[in-house]
Amino acid sequence: MGELKVLHAVKVHALPVCCWRKIMREADDSRRVLATESTGHSFSYEGENGPDHWAEEYQTCAGKFQSPIDIEEHLVTQVRLPPLRFYHFDKEPVASTLTNNGHTVMLQLNITKNPSVSGGPLRGIYVFQQLHFHWGNNDSVGSEDTVNNHTFPLELHIVTYKKDYGNFDNATSYKDGLAVFAVFYEIYGGDNPVYAKIIERLPQVKEPNTEVHFNKGVTLGSLLPETKHLYFTYNGSLTTPPCLEVVTWIEFKQPILLSDNQVNAFRTLRSPEGELTHNFRPVQPLSGRPVWFNVADNYHIAPWGRNGVISPFVTSFSLGIFLVLMLVALQQ
Ligand SMILES: [Zn+2]
Repeated sequence: MGELKVLHAVKVHALPVCCWRKIMREADDSRRVLATESTGHSFSYEGENGPDHWAEEYQTCAGKFQSPIDIEEHLVTQVRLPPLRFYHFDKEPVASTLTNNGHTVMLQLNITKNPSVSGGPLRGIYVFQQLHFHWGNNDSVGSEDTVNNHTFPLELHIVTYKKDYGNFDNATSYKDGLAVFAVFYEIYGGDNPVYAKIIERLPQVKEPNTEVHFNKGVTLGSLLPETKHLYFTYNGSLTTPPCLEVVTWIEFKQPILLSDNQVNAFRTLRSPEGELTHNFRPVQPLSGRPVWFNVADNYHIAPWGRNGVISPFVTSFSLGIFLVLMLVALQQ
C-alpha cells in the first residue's frame, strides 16, 4: 500500500456517465509514504524491477484493464457528459509539500477547504489527494497515455478519491474509488510562470526520499488547461504497483506549454537506483474497453439542478407547466 500511495501519490481513473482530510492527517500520510518507501519493496522503470516484472510481485499488474493506454481518436466515442465541476480549485494553499519519493515528484497542498470535483463521468464527489508527474529521458517519450501513438514529454496526474469511501486507502478497494485527472505538456517557448513555482524547487528534492515544505504555493486550478470540457475518459488502473483497476481516467486534450529547460529540470532528479531520467509505464492492451471523448460545453447551470445541471425532468416539467398556462390563457 505504501507503493500505492506513492504511486498515487502519483497517479490514478473511473466510470462513464450516465478540506483535505484535515491538515494534520495529511501530514501523517505524507510521513508514512516516506517511511514505507524507504523500507518496502521497490519497483523501478527498467531492469529486474522494471514494468515487465511488476506482475511477479503484484498480480494485478497483469490485469486485463490496465493503464496507461494509447488513445486512438478515430476509435473513441463522442459523448456529452455533464460539466465537470471543480470546488475550491482556486484556493491558494496555506502551505505545500514537494516530495521526491524515488519514483516521481509529488506535490501535496495544505488547503483549508478540500479541493474536490464532481460531474463528467463521475458519480459522486472526488477529493484531491496529491499530484505528481511522469517524464522521459528525452522529448520523444515521457507521457504514460498516448494519443494516436503520439507521446508527450511530460504528464501530470492529479489524484482524487471518492468522498463516500472516506479516505484514499479505503477508496482503493472499490472499482470507482479513484479518479485521476491527467494533463499533457508540450515544449514551446519560454518558461511557464505558473509551473515555475513548482519546478524552481525541484533542485531541493533532487535526492530520493526528500521533501521540502514551503508557504503558500500554486492553486490546483492554475495547473489545469484552459479548455477543460474536451477530455478523454476511460476506466483503468494505477500505473504503478499494485496497479489496482480502480481508476476513472480523465485526460484533458489541450496540452500545456512548458519551456525546454522546465522539462529538463525533472530529468535531474534521482531515484535509489541512480538518475530518475524516466518514470513512465509503457501502454497496456485496451482489451476492448470503450474510450469516450467529451465534447459537451453548453450545459445550463441552475441552483436547483443536480450538480448544478438542469435535469431533463426539470426541463420537461417546466415546459409542461408553461404549455398548460398557455392553454389556460388561450381558453380565456
Ligand atoms: Zn501517475
